[in-house]
Amino acid sequence: MSSVDIVIAGGGVAGLTAAAAFGAAGYTVVLADPAPAVAAQNDQRTTAFLQPARALLEQAGVWPLIAGDAADLRVMRIVDAAKQPAVSADFVSDEISDQPFGWNFPNALLRAKLLERIAALPQVQIRFATRYESHLAQDADVRVQLSDGIVRARLLIGADGRASNVREQAGIKARASSFAQKAVVFSVTHSQPHDNVSIEVHRSGGPFTLVPLPDRDGKPCSSVVWMENGARAEDLMALDDAAFIAAAQDRSADVLGQMALASKRQLWPIIAQRAAHITAPRVALMAEAAHVMPPIGAQGLNMSLADLAALLDLATPAGLGGGTMLRAYARRREADIALRMAGVAALNHASIAALPGIGALRARGLRAIHGPKVIRQALMRLGLGVR
Ligand SMILES: Cc1cc2nc3c(=O)[nH]c(=O)nc-3n(C[C@H](O)[C@H](O)[C@H](O)COP(=O)(O)OP(=O)(O)OC[C@H]3O[C@@H](n4cnc5c(N)ncnc54)[C@H](O)[C@@H]3O)c2cc1C
Repeated sequence: MSSVDIVIAGGGVAGLTAAAAFGAAGYTVVLADPAPAVAAQNDQRTTAFLQPARALLEQAGVWPLIAGDAADLRVMRIVDAAKQPAVSADFVSDEISDQPFGWNFPNALLRAKLLERIAALPQVQIRFATRYESHLAQDADVRVQLSDGIVRARLLIGADGRASNVREQAGIKARASSFAQKAVVFSVTHSQPHDNVSIEVHRSGGPFTLVPLPDRDGKPCSSVVWMENGARAEDLMALDDAAFIAAAQDRSADVLGQMALASKRQLWPIIAQRAAHITAPRVALMAEAAHVMPPIGAQGLNMSLADLAALLDLATPAGLGGGTMLRAYARRREADIALRMAGVAALNHASIAALPGIGALRARGLRAIHGPKVIRQALMRLGLGVR
């Protein structure tokens, strides 16, 4: 039986970052993921990292590999396109910091760079096409049954996503609520520059968010998360490219000029889900295994990296995976997770309330903008560590 400090179940962006960070900190790590190594190249999502995530990526030795591929996020603009003419409000990072409030990266690139970093860390072993199956926690260690054998460790990190097997095997319940929405995710090039402004267009159904990416083929480029009620989102996915981009153009209220489709489209269900606890003996849950939220406010992976920062901070070679470390992890993270999830749910409801049919819920005037803006400002301050 092989023996390491930490077994990580799950090789999404969260699990890979954890492997790089713990490896860089000197711990021995085995990471298992049932997917083949190339699978996630299909991920059309991008991730906007907020400021605190950068420090963690620097610590893990990942930032220097990705910095050149980042698009700075300096302004967040909220546009109410239900009004004619459309009105907008800006949230500017300079208001609270001299840094951009975030940086946006394609997930596929992040994964590739994380794997490159991990390849330079001999103490980290990645096992693709290998599944976590079960574990047996004991006083001093945990025996983790992977599909290719048993590994003994002192800490098992469940980073195995929203349907986490680690969570289930640890007997931890998760409460989910559905927003009856789905997100259509894709990238576009556009005729007007984005000027590092992330734009959220509100009109009906849910926000249409354009987040800056580095130029593609000499043209300004952005990723789009278009949230709609489920049936409408399915209809959009069924359109051919020309009809789809025409619908997207209309929904964008032309905020970035003429758009052209620059990627495949992907459909993501929108749920909120929270694990009742984030620890069990010798087990720590992180990322979507612990919390899932609608993709607005750039909180998802940033919360996951806050989980990781806490684990790293609390880990000591002697106390790794022990009761003291895990109790401190739960204390540090559970209240913060609850607070942010409430904020994102409020932001999502404020946006859905902008539907014409439930217009009565929305005070006349700029509520559609100021509701989200106030909540977002609070969330961004939380995200940036400014309270
Ligand atoms: C449309 C969209 C846009 C988003 N935009 C942002 C953003 O701008 N900023 C932000 O911070 N967040 C964003 N998020 C959220 C962010 O993408 C997620 O929080 C993050 O990618 C989830 O990472 P994860 O590693 O927890 O989960 P996943 O990416 O789901 O990874 C889980 C991994 O676990 C593996 N696995 C499953 N079962 C097992 C098993 N039995 N054993 C071992 N491994 C297993 C899977 O193969 C998978 O590789 C967005 C989400 C969506 C849907």
